[in-house]
Amino acid sequence: MRRPFVAGNWKMHGSRAENAQLLDGLVQGLPAQASADIAVCPPFVYLWETARVLKSSAIGVGAQSVCAESIGAFTGEVAASMLKDVGCTYVIVGHSERRAIYREDDALVARKFLASQSQGLIPILCVGETLEEREQGHTTEVVSRQLAAVLDVAGISALDTAVVAYEPVWAIGTGKTATPEQAQEVHAHIRGEVARRDAKIAAELRIVYGGSVKAANAREIFAKPDVDGGLIGGASLKADEFLKICAAAQAH
Ligand code: PEP
Repeated sequence: MRRPFVAGNWKMHGSRAENAQLLDGLVQGLPAQASADIAVCPPFVYLWETARVLKSSAIGVGAQSVCAESIGAFTGEVAASMLKDVGCTYVIVGHSERRAIYREDDALVARKFLASQSQGLIPILCVGETLEEREQGHTTEVVSRQLAAVLDVAGISALDTAVVAYEPVWAIGTGKTATPEQAQEVHAHIRGEVARRDAKIAAELRIVYGGSVKAANAREIFAKPDVDGGLIGGASLKADEFLKICAAAQAH
């Protein structure tokens, strides 16, 4: 039985005051015995404070990106060891906004994945197709390529301590959600790709969905057999909404 996982990707939102309010709402509202792993991913500068506030809670902390290098002259970058040092457990790698806006290619994403695991962080590896790729019938080919780029360098056993997030690019921040059937189809494909290499790892791998998940649609998406929770953007910025999504994940 896979334990559901829900992470909030705050993107470039928040302030110390807003974060304090949001985190307070989450800590107060999350049941002590949550049957899902829950995490929030604030911007780098708020990680330390967030980890401090959440220290005695069941909510984990993740970063939104990481440098592929471990130390040195990389102005503006943050190393995996630093993320670990300030209390992170998770790190998002390969988010479509990083791939599209900052031109992070499959090879760089794979190096970031390796850098994260080398410090004991759990990567949340994002894969997903653009609208054009979907319309041309290339969805499974694209996610297979993105996945293989990591597995070819990290090895299949790397997925023992990772989460995969299927995030169709056309559904991120657009209000357009994949139907539960569309999500299930791609999640099953991803699990099948992993199973070709290792059936046990595939059965245990958490594959979460991301793309305009809200309290109103979370339950039916999370009900699909290969959907193990969500990576939540906009809806993770409001405590009530995020808590409802977490509750929907725990219902399965
Ligand atoms: C995301 O940024 O990973 C995401 C899924 O965003 P949203 O939920 O806002 O679509």
